[in-house]
Amino acid sequence: KRVLAIETSCDETSAAVIENGTEQLSNVVASQIKSHQRFGGVVPEVASRHHVEQMTLVMEAALLEAGTSYDELDAIAVTEGPGLVGALLIGVNAAKAVAYAHNLPLIPVNHIIGHIYANQLVQPLRFPLLSLVVSGGHTELVYMKQAGQYEVIGETRDDAAGEAYDKVGRVLGVPYPGGKHIDEMAHHGNDTFHFPRAMMQDDTNDFSFSGLKSSFINTVHNAQQKGEVLDKNDLAASFQAAVVEVLVNKTIRCAKERKVKQIVLAGGVAANKGLREALTAATSEELTEVELIIPPLSLCGDNAAMIGAAAFTESIEPDQLDLTLNAKPGLSL
Ligand code: ATP
Ligand code: MG
Ligand code: FE
Repeated sequence: KRVLAIETSCDETSAAVIENGTEQLSNVVASQIKSHQRFGGVVPEVASRHHVEQMTLVMEAALLEAGTSYDELDAIAVTEGPGLVGALLIGVNAAKAVAYAHNLPLIPVNHIIGHIYANQLVQPLRFPLLSLVVSGGHTELVYMKQAGQYEVIGETRDDAAGEAYDKVGRVLGVPYPGGKHIDEMAHHGNDTFHFPRAMMQDDTNDFSFSGLKSSFINTVHNAQQKGEVLDKNDLAASFQAAVVEVLVNKTIRCAKERKVKQIVLAGGVAANKGLREALTAATSEELTEVELIIPPLSLCGDNAAMIGAAAFTESIEPDQLDLTLNAKPGLSL
């Protein structure tokens, strides 16, 4: 079965053609980052306008690159939420239009399930599994006893990991989104500041990053007031060490408790080199029987391929076309 998938939940306009949930025939991503950078974050109205401009072109490019046409498709899949309502609406309406025009079933997909299923394009998922979802809006440990079951067993109580990266990036004066830049800088510095590891020893599987963020900001401001110059690479390395240590520690602990077969990394922050290295090392040291899947960089950030992969978790009826489908900005697992 061949699906055209559409993703417009935030600031990437993306379309992809996926076969059987495992094979990627194309994955076209038009990023809007340059337009949002001067505002230091995503401006929802600007995002919607870009999606309108790009949507048709991106869908056509995805079909062309896959060497396929609407006649050869079996369904249309689209992100219905969570995300920015105006941004989601562009994708949802484009999907409804092409599904209706070409008489194809329409499959609504949860964006977070999409991030998890990006891993299915790398290797078949085996259950039970534990997914560490780390993105701009989410930081969650999702336990899947079997396909279709999502149990959030830990989550952030304040900022998402990606959000913390981006806020710290602003303090260090790097362009938005800061995550990638902090990651780069971290590799040229050392953990000299020893920022707090929040809730590390606690029984809870939850996370908290706002204390770390405050501690970081205070350190920088205090130094500024005293006229001291701090090494930015060391600051980045110290921040990253604190984030990664907590994420890896809790993931390994939950994976042991739940006796999972796989750990799968998901979301934009999955692109983080420090996190990828630390999770790989910890899994091979402490959980020799457990298989770790880490998506390639192209499947970490928002993309439609992952939506196409996740679409296959649903059963597709030939006449499934709900033209009342709406964007669900606050959709949860
Ligand atoms: P959500 O998926 O929760 O709805 P989102 O779609 O906006 O939110 P993603 O696109 O999945 O989030 O991820 C974007 C986030 O990933 C940004 O916060 C960005 O800074 C972060 N990020 C990207 N690359 C890296 C990296 N190498 N290190 C750390 N963070 C990174
Ligand atoms: Mg994005
Ligand atoms: Fe995302």
